[in-house]
Amino acid sequence: MALSDYQRDMEGCSRCSSCKWVPYIQMKSARFAKNCPAICYHNFHAYSGSGRMIMGLSILRNRSELSEEVKDILYRCQLCGACDTACKLYRDDIDITEVLLELRSFCVESGQLVLENMAVIDALKQEDNVLGEPKSKRGDWAVGLDVKDVSVEKAGVLFHAGCRYSYDTDLRDSLRAGVQLMLNSGVDLGIAGKDESCCGGRVYELGYRGEAENYADDMISRVKASGADTIVTACADGYAAFKYLYPRMGKELPCEVLHLTQFLERLVKDGKLKLRDAVPLNVTYHDPCHLGRMSEPFLGQWDGNKLERPMSMKRTGRKGIYDAPRNLLTSIPGLRLLEMERIREYSWCCGAGGGVYDTNPEFALWTARERLEEAVSTGAEAIVTACPWCERIFRDSLEETGIDFKVYDLADLALVSAGILARV
Ligand code: SF4
Ligand code: SF4
Repeated sequence: MALSDYQRDMEGCSRCSSCKWVPYIQMKSARFAKNCPAICYHNFHAYSGSGRMIMGLSILRNRSELSEEVKDILYRCQLCGACDTACKLYRDDIDITEVLLELRSFCVESGQLVLENMAVIDALKQEDNVLGEPKSKRGDWAVGLDVKDVSVEKAGVLFHAGCRYSYDTDLRDSLRAGVQLMLNSGVDLGIAGKDESCCGGRVYELGYRGEAENYADDMISRVKASGADTIVTACADGYAAFKYLYPRMGKELPCEVLHLTQFLERLVKDGKLKLRDAVPLNVTYHDPCHLGRMSEPFLGQWDGNKLERPMSMKRTGRKGIYDAPRNLLTSIPGLRLLEMERIREYSWCCGAGGGVYDTNPEFALWTARERLEEAVSTGAEAIVTACPWCERIFRDSLEETGIDFKVYDLADLALVSAGILARV
């Protein structure tokens, strides 16, 4: 697809500004009624979903150039999809996030690169991960765990750790917790270790389609060689790449794709994982954008008039993964789930998505702070999430602000409830 394929979407924007707000029927208070971090932080229309589409149309019609200012705006967006979900309630013939992705690809294809993104691109070129850590150490997180190495033997389930979890030592225990829960439930589990690469989701979002396709091909061959019929990842970005971006590129993983929370929920339902020990905590749950609205399976391109597009072909955000994490949390005895105002497909972003944390950390951390204030307002003692990127930025934000609040990965709490860990 190209930017020109979305001309009608861009022309169709009625500038009603609904893309800046949680839909009225979902609003609970004025304090948490907005949905777009970019327009809230920058307070100028160009930063909204609508404003970005107007810029896109102007570029397409050669009325604007890809100036430094325009590029800066295009990349000051977490690609969280909240604008798209809100717009869809009123205008289901417009696909904002598709336009946002095309605009970034248009920048790269026009040779209009954003210098701040080059560190990530170079890191990927040299070490196949977005953090620039040594590829040879990618499997170190699993030392001591009884997992198979799929480069030497087959496994029924391939576990994809992802870049952040593989190298962020602060989050290592959470990653190991999820794997330990699967192993204790008898799952035939393998990892690719040092042979694992980035899923390619980040480069795709930055507009580097060719590089993303290479990573998708690499992943597909690794899954085929592993013999696995299921791939599980604990990374929301990886999950969204597998479910949405790969098919958008015309690539399909030859196996079932599950997020860790879905897999654990299945183990609980099958009686293979028992969450029986009490975890007496009041928590709130943060829906990662890439596990929620951005993880909806790709539905295929609709080439005709979008006014005639059937509902089943529309990306509304409702088919994201919202129930599995909540079902797991509410299965834990003693744990009370207190919901925030903006949840499920109307969730507020953590701030780390779309490459923003690398290029505009102040904006990213402000976004995280906003979410943490919402979390604190529920009366909970902690925020729980199921994505290493959300967890990282929440931890950083709490450290920066000094707010006395806890961040947990859902796997940590499940590990305690399963009796494998004494306490979090
Ligand atoms: S909600 Fe949709 S139609 Fe309305 S201004 Fe935003 S993008 Fe345009
Ligand atoms: S994707 Fe998120 S940050 Fe970007 S314009 Fe839409 S709502 Fe705002």
